[in-house]
Amino acid sequence: MFRKVHIRLTLLCAGITAVIMIIMSLCYLYVSETGLYRNQFQSFQNDINTITTNLEQQSVISMEWLSKMEAQGNYLFFVLDGGVPFLYNQLSSVQGNATRGILLDECRNVYQNMIAKDASVQSESSYRSSHFEFEFVSESTASKYFGSVINMGPYASTLEIIVLSSLQSLEEQILEQRFHFILIDLAAIILLTVFAWLFTGLLLKPIMENHQKQIRFVASASHELRTPLAVILSAAECCKNASAEKREGFLKTIHQEGLRMSSLVNDMLTLSGSDNQRFAVYPKSIELDTLLMNSYEAFDPLAREKSITLSVSLPDKAVPPCSADPERISQVISILLHNAISYTPEQGRIELSLSHKKEHFYLSVRDNGIGISDEDKKKIFDRFYRVEKSRSAKGHFGLGLSIAYEIIKAHGGSIQVTDAEGGGSIFTIIL
Ligand code: ADP
Repeated sequence: MFRKVHIRLTLLCAGITAVIMIIMSLCYLYVSETGLYRNQFQSFQNDINTITTNLEQQSVISMEWLSKMEAQGNYLFFVLDGGVPFLYNQLSSVQGNATRGILLDECRNVYQNMIAKDASVQSESSYRSSHFEFEFVSESTASKYFGSVINMGPYASTLEIIVLSSLQSLEEQILEQRFHFILIDLAAIILLTVFAWLFTGLLLKPIMENHQKQIRFVASASHELRTPLAVILSAAECCKNASAEKREGFLKTIHQEGLRMSSLVNDMLTLSGSDNQRFAVYPKSIELDTLLMNSYEAFDPLAREKSITLSVSLPDKAVPPCSADPERISQVISILLHNAISYTPEQGRIELSLSHKKEHFYLSVRDNGIGISDEDKKKIFDRFYRVEKSRSAKGHFGLGLSIAYEIIKAHGGSIQVTDAEGGGSIFTIIL
């Protein structure tokens, strides 16, 4: 499921960015190409102005001069007298360019059509030399040309000079530019797809992890509930044919396992409330030393039962009040004390202590029990995690520390575990 979502998100991200990039590239190409055509046309017009001025200053149009101009400017010149090609064109044709004649005809046709449509094109010609530039596509060579028709003024009114400039090199330059853009766009799309794949992968990672956690949580919860349920069902079955005396024992088992299930369900509800942000914490000004003493008194009999010495250490000076939810903080201390008693052997020692430094309260539970390896320290706050050695302990589902963690987190504090000197563990709550 996540793989499909990953692929779809990648395609969506890369697709949208690629479309935007292609539109931008097309806009750039349009602006750049129209600019190139405009500049080329302007430079052609400037050249024609210069040529016209030169021609006006010459009393005789020299063929040598025309050949030189052709060679220099990549232009084709045609001289027409009364519409008939003049000697220069004949010489050039003989020299080998057979398409010149066709080009000349095509250019003149385009020009004649323009004059037919718009008479102003030719208006100035009767007083002085005039010229008119335009663009046309030659059907014979299938390429574009700029053409100019120069009318040589009143003294040479039958003389017409036509100049053609091929746009082939400009078109090649534009094609090259387009090709470069296609390559750049393709490379960018590949990079974008890789980036989108990594980026969406990073986005999906916490969701996938959360999903895996949920699956593990449900699996572990079902597993934990199955054991007491199986015991209850078999005890109920045995009750049917048991004597009154034995039945009493079975009913006791059913009651105990029922209590176990109820406590597990309560723990799971607490955690699910914290996941849905429905974890209610009602802070008020409380005295932590009093709270600690109450917990001590509640757990002392249990510790004594196991021959464990439970002690409490409070600061000499009065501790300022702390803003916290007394019920929830007592619940966390109970979890830590319950664990400490469970994982400390007989004749062991447990110390509850409180200190206050720089606006922080430090509540700690130290024991000299079995201790926790560095590897396990990273995992004990995970749901349903139990260190292998403690798996057999009844009434322990591996949810206590996860609940403690969520409660302290809801208070904006932190909880950490360290090794105690000489063995055992120290759990410290910082508020
Ligand atoms: P449990 O209900 O199993 O105690 P917890 O979440 O409270 O679950 O604790 C998780 C695991 O951390 C326990 O199974 C135990 O292995 C380890 N643990 C917790 N407290 C202590 C302690 N004081 N000393 C040694 N191990 C502990």
